[in-house]
Amino acid sequence: VVQAYLKRIDDVEDKVNSTLKIMGEEALEKAENLDKNGIQAKGLMGIPYGLKDNMCTMDVETTCASKILYNFKPPYNATVVEKLEQAGSIVLAKMNMDEFAMGSSTENSSFKKTHNPWDIDRVPGGSSGGSAACVAAGEAAFALGTDTGGSIRQPASFCGVVGLKPTYGMVSRYGLIAFASSLDQIGPMTKDVEDCAIVLNAISGHDDKDSTSVVTEKKDFTNYLTKDIKGLKIGVPKEYFQEGLNNEVEQSVREAIKVYKDLGAEIIETSLPTTEYALSAYYIISSAEASSNLARYDGIRYGYRAEDFDGLVDLYKKSRSEGFGSEVKRRIMLGTYALSSGYYDAYYKKALQVRTLIKEDFDNVFKTCDVILSPTCPTTSFKLGEKSNDPLEMYLSDIYTVPVNIAGVPGISIPCGFDSEGLPIGLQLIGKAFGEDTLLKASYAFEQ
Ligand code: GLN
Repeated sequence: VVQAYLKRIDDVEDKVNSTLKIMGEEALEKAENLDKNGIQAKGLMGIPYGLKDNMCTMDVETTCASKILYNFKPPYNATVVEKLEQAGSIVLAKMNMDEFAMGSSTENSSFKKTHNPWDIDRVPGGSSGGSAACVAAGEAAFALGTDTGGSIRQPASFCGVVGLKPTYGMVSRYGLIAFASSLDQIGPMTKDVEDCAIVLNAISGHDDKDSTSVVTEKKDFTNYLTKDIKGLKIGVPKEYFQEGLNNEVEQSVREAIKVYKDLGAEIIETSLPTTEYALSAYYIISSAEASSNLARYDGIRYGYRAEDFDGLVDLYKKSRSEGFGSEVKRRIMLGTYALSSGYYDAYYKKALQVRTLIKEDFDNVFKTCDVILSPTCPTTSFKLGEKSNDPLEMYLSDIYTVPVNIAGVPGISIPCGFDSEGLPIGLQLIGKAFGEDTLLKASYAFEQ
């Protein structure tokens, strides 16, 4: 199996460019060991996967697609890597991403641009663009991505794969290089919903090493893959179908609503009134947390260090100026500004208050609905370079995904059709906190 995927990488990688490091030898060695031990193929045993390069792999470069982490080889594995290893799965490659997971197109990587396998002149989405593209191109059986404001669901939507952002606290973040700690979650990116459930089984659960991971009842998510969704109450928020939504995307999502009706679900028109404030709150909160998290890259302890400098402060300045890319610098400045005395109350504190209101919006809708349905993204994949000089335009593509991270609830993107140019369209389903079982059930019923 590993050989077959390596061959596939060999065949298509020059067009897709999804990997930052292919771990072919290590992967083959692991596979041979499994073969030798005569271990029975079941579940994820022997199944190769792609790992977004912001998750630590012991003694193997972990770059976050940033120059600042130059030559950083973590002395430990992320918990998700350990868990997948225990399940017998094999890391095949570290995947390209936007630097520090900041972006929506993977064009912010310091190393290369990944192409959408459906049309190689287009972006795969981001920031987990390498992970989405590798699954879509058949370069790995599945991948792990991370989602702070949509980075699993949006690229899944652009590449026609399934992407789940679990409830905050469902999957350990230990060994995930932080972007915005109160929003970041790791999740599966897979060919279909069943694979998603299998991978979620393997990576979820409490971890002593992450104090925000939650003790939950252990569930086998594959048990929920039944087609029976009769009576399921699906909320359709009107704010997610307004200006900015592409016609063909809207049409396709409306078709999906019909499919759910035919399956016996009850469709409820509903409202999330604070949606219009979500993007502003997200970009303040995430940038504030990023500015604090990224303060550790000082050119001293590890990673990139400038060569010519004049004293300590100059070393910090030059290492950070040369090591970080422009989007990361923009977020650090934005975040530092929002946290600075005099502006804290007006921006950061206000954003936290909005966060509470957004969460209340979701709580209200979930009083009457089991899941919420919407488009994942206002558009399908755009051309490489089309939005890279316009950060605000790029931020707008996160409009339907960021509220989910702000509220901490789970969200999944599943393929629901194609536009007239043959590009995949994604349908988003949002669940109650720790309602992954219902979410997967509803996704599976649609997929069938
Ligand atoms: N596109 C969003 C951003 O740039 C989301 C990123 C993410 O989820 N990691 O912040």
